[in-house]
Amino acid sequence: MNNQAETGSCADNHEPGLLTMDDARTRIVSSIEAISDQEEVGLWGALDRVLAEDILSPIDVPPYTNSAMDGYALNSHGVEQGATLQVIGTAWAGKPFARRVEKGECARIMTGAVIPDGADAVVMQELVQREADTICLQRSVRAAENVRPAGEDLTAGSLALAKGQRIRPAELGLLASIGVAEVVVTRRPRVTIFCTGDELRAVGQPLAKGDIYDSNRYTLYSMLQRLGVEIIDFGVIPDQPEALEKAFRDAMKSSDAVITTGGVSVGDADYVTGMLEKLGQIDFWKIAIKPGRPLAFGRLGESRFFGLPGNPVSVMVTFYQFVQPALRRMMGENLPPRVLLQIPTATALRKRPGRAEFQRGILETGEDGTLIVRSTGHQGSGILRSMSEANCFIILTEESSGVEAGELVSVEPFQGLV
Ligand code: AMP
Ligand code: MG
Repeated sequence: MNNQAETGSCADNHEPGLLTMDDARTRIVSSIEAISDQEEVGLWGALDRVLAEDILSPIDVPPYTNSAMDGYALNSHGVEQGATLQVIGTAWAGKPFARRVEKGECARIMTGAVIPDGADAVVMQELVQREADTICLQRSVRAAENVRPAGEDLTAGSLALAKGQRIRPAELGLLASIGVAEVVVTRRPRVTIFCTGDELRAVGQPLAKGDIYDSNRYTLYSMLQRLGVEIIDFGVIPDQPEALEKAFRDAMKSSDAVITTGGVSVGDADYVTGMLEKLGQIDFWKIAIKPGRPLAFGRLGESRFFGLPGNPVSVMVTFYQFVQPALRRMMGENLPPRVLLQIPTATALRKRPGRAEFQRGILETGEDGTLIVRSTGHQGSGILRSMSEANCFIILTEESSGVEAGELVSVEPFQGLV
């Protein structure tokens, strides 16, 4: 399908000054420097902070060779199926068995207990027949069977976590497992947010004709909260140059980043871009993406400025595609490579060439067990429900003129497991 040919012209195509999505992201992210201030935090306060130092393990993990099973610890050498061994005691997790296990002997052992001296293997309790203080082996035992060697996970002195690593649940657990109680992390960026628009009312207030509720501050606030930054919320600022100028000046005093929504287009009440030009520097503001084309990026004194569009879906798309990687870099985080899946689309997807599109999709397992993606339906940039229903972006390239059902499309899942 080629919509451009069908319609004869396409306003989106070849618009001068439009930056491609990849260029824009590279330019934004590479112009951001990591915050150099550091602080020490305890483990309980370390979730979603970014390590400012390499962490070397001070100990072996596990610290001692131990059993992976509940069973019997024995010396495997020369022990055959049918052998009978004397049970001489019990090794508990946290309560090692003090005696040496000699030939013809074994010790009852629980998962996680230290392997007693003299033993080199553990036989699962399901594979022996026990009678009083003896066991009979139902099969032969290999050396090191069901034994977790000391240092199997990490050896003392080796790199446990690298500088730039975000601390997620797995990293928190890993730090605890090596006994590290405090870590040095990058200071959290201070991010000031405000929404612009005379039509915006706070939740709880009545709506007059022409009003809408301000939803962007909630999406923006919560996306930032998940990222782990410090948020300063200026609320809603009316479409008045004086009010906007005051908000800009206050915000730039103490923020690492300032993020606004609305007012970046070319309407008569769109003052954000002009204010950025007046009080700071604008880098560029037109990106060939949909939704989210009008995006202002620049500097405001010492802070970075992101002027996001007003439409609720555009806010989320531009946040995830541009602001989030920029702020993660500001936090000193090593950005993991982006994961894009190639998945067949269940339905045809309409699109005009010119701008890359972030359509909202639902990635699911089809009846044959393979992944398939379908559209959430109408793709208007004001339809926030599409973001709620979606679990992925379907990314269509600038050149694409739509795809037929069954064709492969690029899919970016919203979230992983951690
Ligand atoms: P603007 O970019 O200011 O022209 O806004 C584009 C569209 O987004 C308009 O329909 C606005 O009413 C809507 N909009 C702007 N800000 C918000 C907000 N904070 N919450 C919900 N919708 C908004
Ligand atoms: Mg507006």
